[in-house]
Amino acid sequence: MTSSADTRLLEDFLAFTLAGERPAASSGTAPSGVRWTWQGEGVLLLEPARAPTSSVLASAGVHGDETAPIEMLSRLVADIGNGRAPLAARVLVILGNIRAMRAGDRYIDDDLNRLFSGRHTSLRDSREAPRAAELENAALRFFDDAAHPKWHIDMHTAIRASVFEQFALLPHTGEPLARAMFDWLRDARLQAVLLHREKGNTFTHFTAQAAGALACTLELGKVRPFGQNDLARFAASDAALRRLIAGEPAAESAPLRVFTVVAQIDKHSEHFILNVASDVPNFTAFPAGTELARDGDYRYRVSHDEERIVFPNPKVKPGLRAGLMVVDTTDATLESLG
Ligand SMILES: [Zn+2]
Repeated sequence: MTSSADTRLLEDFLAFTLAGERPAASSGTAPSGVRWTWQGEGVLLLEPARAPTSSVLASAGVHGDETAPIEMLSRLVADIGNGRAPLAARVLVILGNIRAMRAGDRYIDDDLNRLFSGRHTSLRDSREAPRAAELENAALRFFDDAAHPKWHIDMHTAIRASVFEQFALLPHTGEPLARAMFDWLRDARLQAVLLHREKGNTFTHFTAQAAGALACTLELGKVRPFGQNDLARFAASDAALRRLIAGEPAAESAPLRVFTVVAQIDKHSEHFILNVASDVPNFTAFPAGTELARDGDYRYRVSHDEERIVFPNPKVKPGLRAGLMVVDTTDATLESLG
């Protein structure tokens, strides 16, 4: 028999998780026939009755106040449980920073999405550090020995406006870019993708590097409190994720612009001045020669014909990155795909 807690686990994974509930047994079978295993707070494994075609890690809430994708994932769990969302893949659903989700904040002590790939070991007092370690272990356990395609879709919402409202970020691993990932991003109707050129400490950098997953971070629009999100704005990503886990081919082939990181703006001291409005939209373009920042003798001037600014933040601590600069590499990147 299924207890009421176990029913809530599948029917409202978000409420179940926020309430700190635990299932009576750690695993069971949903009405759809899908086998579920609760692996800890906010970590739920869903396995189809038949041999899986791929392994898909779907995560949200790595930033606790980015509510819309969390609600979207919770609905997906319910639909997998009741059979409305067919399942051909093994799926690991992860709600990331639960303590911050309860508080309605981005994080408590440290940005969880800067603590992966072992960086949590140098911040032992941070309340986010144990969660980063737990999520790394859950991801490695999930991808271990998987012979089929491995995917990780990590869903976020942005703080600021953007020229491209919905965009993706791909981690840098040194491996060639995968056409399958670009096809999926088009299916999800993402408008732009940003290619990193250096390793990072994000969740998707970790799964790409340590597990060889096709991993992307999605920025799906602006943050609102739980219950106030218009999930229709996220319908394309939701539909593409449902096709991915159902083993169905892409249905969309939307245009996709590609940008590659060419530089970063550094904050050296408290004298740092960013010469753009603090709320400038992501991907705002500037012509060659524009002085975007100064800090003592340091200047950042646009050196390409056109550069676009992403994630500008003059309020970071000195020594940290105050913005990324990217250039359009759409044609060269799409031609390079194998
Ligand atoms: Zn985020």
